[in-house]
Amino acid sequence: MKIITDERCTGYGRRGHPERPARVSATVEKLRQQNELPVEWVKPNPATDVAILRAHSPELLTRLSQPEDFDADTPFFPDILEHARRSAGAALDALQLARSGETVFSLMRPPGHHATRKQVMGFCYLNNIAIAALEALATGAKRVAIFDFDVHHGNGTEAILLNQKGAAFFSIHQFPAYPGTGMTNVGDNCHNFPVTPRTPRGEYRAVLASALDELKKFKPDLVGVSAGFDAYVRDPLAQGTLEAEDFHWLGQSFQQLSVPVFSLLEGGYSRDLPDLIFAYLLGLKGK
Ligand SMILES: [Zn+2]
Repeated sequence: MKIITDERCTGYGRRGHPERPARVSATVEKLRQQNELPVEWVKPNPATDVAILRAHSPELLTRLSQPEDFDADTPFFPDILEHARRSAGAALDALQLARSGETVFSLMRPPGHHATRKQVMGFCYLNNIAIAALEALATGAKRVAIFDFDVHHGNGTEAILLNQKGAAFFSIHQFPAYPGTGMTNVGDNCHNFPVTPRTPRGEYRAVLASALDELKKFKPDLVGVSAGFDAYVRDPLAQGTLEAEDFHWLGQSFQQLSVPVFSLLEGGYSRDLPDLIFAYLLGLKGK
């Protein structure tokens, strides 16, 4: 199992903000302290402008250097552009490793799935998964599926990949919830599976299973996963009902697809996040 991370991604944060450095540092510690799952650590390369600009406007790149908060949820930090570049670069490295047959997870901050072509929002600065999907298509992939199980709708990924030839997007998320989108399917290729707050766990899992069935019908040659762990029953930011075992099952389900799969950390704000990620990784490894 290759885990892509860089300790610099824990070097910024704002007091009281749920998207905090300990999300990654506590998970690194958890992975170092176990021996059930052998881990190889990989440091990411920063994403180039060429890769970023397939998904984002030049204005957004410029804006990331201007020291001004983006919205109430999404602060400016010194060097946020470099942090975001490394997180996007980790997505690109994860893509390459998956293509060479590795099981891989990008354990980085900041997350990405809310960032649109032109807008930084929802703790997200650059859309890591969309940047990787467009890179995959630009370098030979024919059918790329993105599966987003973060409890929030991946509005940014949807906006960037909307009607993109060769790409399909599948998002399972709470509705209503932030950011308020994702109630219905849009375009030719964006499939949304809204789940009402406090939906019983078995029903939530059935929705995940039907989204996976839709993904299989698309017959992807490559799958990118926006792995958010905030649909967890004890997550403070939403009203999901999933347990660690459900994330394990998701990992197993991707492993059984028998195509290259790469996963990126999106949300997940409970103190149990390291255990949830670990359960997912065991599943990905078929354990
Ligand atoms: Zn989320």
